[in-house]
Amino acid sequence: MNTSYNFAAGPSGLPAAVLERARKELFAHGDDGSTAFEQPFTGEAFGATLARARARLRDLLAVPDNYHILFLAGGATQQFSMVPLNLLGNAAHVAYADSGHWSQRAIREAGRYAAVTVAARYEGERPLAAPPLSAWRLPDDCAYCHITPNETADGIAYPALPDCGDVPLVADVTSCLLTAPLEVARFGLLYAAAQKNLGIAGMTVVIVRDDLLRRPAPLVPSSCDYRAQAAQESRANTPPTIAIALAGMMFDWIAQQGGLAEMHTRGQRKAALLYDAIDASGGFFRAPAAPVHRSPVNVRFELANSALTAPFIEYSARRGLHHLRGHSAFGGLRASLYNAMPEEGVRALIACMADFTRSYG
Ligand code: PMP
Repeated sequence: MNTSYNFAAGPSGLPAAVLERARKELFAHGDDGSTAFEQPFTGEAFGATLARARARLRDLLAVPDNYHILFLAGGATQQFSMVPLNLLGNAAHVAYADSGHWSQRAIREAGRYAAVTVAARYEGERPLAAPPLSAWRLPDDCAYCHITPNETADGIAYPALPDCGDVPLVADVTSCLLTAPLEVARFGLLYAAAQKNLGIAGMTVVIVRDDLLRRPAPLVPSSCDYRAQAAQESRANTPPTIAIALAGMMFDWIAQQGGLAEMHTRGQRKAALLYDAIDASGGFFRAPAAPVHRSPVNVRFELANSALTAPFIEYSARRGLHHLRGHSAFGGLRASLYNAMPEEGVRALIACMADFTRSYG
């Protein structure tokens, strides 16, 4: 029995049932003698895998018919460029909310292609909070407004979505997609790299409303043209076939567990357990985010005595609790509680924190 738990921010743990299914199915030889690794991307077998994954995701998220679901090669950072290159059209401006590390990376990249207005700003002061949702300043002639609803590194999340009027809302949902129901119709475009809740690295899901499939900027590589990928159902060139197969298995697993409402319930419970333990530690551990802005998936916390950070990481690893080191930009600790993390893992972490406090407090 493996009692270790992986709290990594991504790539992160997969459900045991998905790993077991992958072990059996990916290596199985089909009618043509090939395994999933060997199937041509244009063939029937992979076509069925792709269609099943797309249909399952559409179902889980209740994606409206006027949205395309694309499974594209590469990570979310690639989308930091693909989004402005594909959506800018004839507009001169794009707007971004700065909510911390990953939105700042997205802003820097977009600035290479368009005039970026920072519509709302992250203060970076404690307690940490996402930008206030009222009165964002969007420029005229604005192609879209981009947000990062869950900041994986900072450990903060928006408590609600902003109202951007007619300006399409674009969201980097890399660390929160499929952790809760989401009203897709509120967005013009959503994107999420797969290595957290959708399987393995190398693939990004893009969900885009069809009226936003514009002529891209002239220098866009053809493999990065959303219109072409939508027209060819993500097979304009070789897609990341194994990552798509894994994503399909993750979607099936989520559906079997009860869908997104159940993921949300479990996620809220896990996060409440851990934040409550942090808050009840008498200041030995502390969480820097304001309570309503705390990410339920990336729990950022720290030891009041920072000299104990490395000993705690070692201590917890000896107990089978791995990858609790905070993001390199911030230090401290972070426990990522994606869908695959069972509640027992969170309880094991809380017990470990209590024992550590008794030994070092
Ligand atoms: N956006 C967010 C919110 C992320 O968490 C990450 C990765 N941690 C990225 C973007 C970058 O993704 P990738 O490494 O796949 O480019």
